[in-house]
Amino acid sequence: MIKVGTAGTPNSAEKRTSFHGVTRIRELGLDAMEVEFTYGVRMGNATARQLKKHAEENNVSLSVHGPYYINLNAREAKKRKDSERRILESCEKGALMGARNICFHPGFYLKQDPDLVYANVYDELMALTEIIEKKELGVRLCPETTGKPTQFGSWEELMRLCSDVPGLGMTFDFSHVYAREAGKGDFDEALKAMKKELGASFLHDLHMHFSGIIYTEKGERSHCDMDDCGEPGFKPITDSMKKWHLGGTAICESPNLETDALKLKKML
Ligand SMILES: [Zn+2]
Repeated sequence: MIKVGTAGTPNSAEKRTSFHGVTRIRELGLDAMEVEFTYGVRMGNATARQLKKHAEENNVSLSVHGPYYINLNAREAKKRKDSERRILESCEKGALMGARNICFHPGFYLKQDPDLVYANVYDELMALTEIIEKKELGVRLCPETTGKPTQFGSWEELMRLCSDVPGLGMTFDFSHVYAREAGKGDFDEALKAMKKELGASFLHDLHMHFSGIIYTEKGERSHCDMDDCGEPGFKPITDSMKKWHLGGTAICESPNLETDALKLKKML
């Protein structure tokens, strides 16, 4: 079963708060919501605890999207430290709100050799995983497949990380996988390889993103509503979800959030 939800508070919520967002998710008959810490982790601990209670009472599954300013391959030690801190803050706040999956964009190649970048990101994720375990936060790091070839995070790289770093998850963003290869990204190829490498159980518990996407030869340009740009479209996504028996959570990142989330849920 796939829980379907929105990236942040639904547009039709009474107020722009996560609390009202959860209320609206339940009213709409959706199942999940991703709390967006786009520009920093700014939620207070009391609010996070309150949100946990509210989400549990409404049977809404929460996840967290970490800040955008993260680069685990930054050249400057300070930038790497800041990235670690932002991820850990997301994890700690996520733990308080009862979220499990912590999504973030892992970083940039900065024109370096991809194998070197892999090693740098691997070291960072191993260290972070250890801290999360020691603190018993009960969350799972889910680095996201990225939409541009300049960003670290092809599905191949993330698949390799998931087999090398114990307990690591991934955010499989259908639209990014599609746009990273300028519309040639192949869901079946990726999911088939992931099943072989990581096992069927990994696919039964996958964190996913979807939206319409506008792209060029350089990959992702912007998100759009599914119907507006028509790519990758609902059908290839829901077909793959069914074909590979995917389970877990699918978060809609279209600007119209709940409209596309509800359409996908209906198609499933
Ligand atoms: Zn995404």
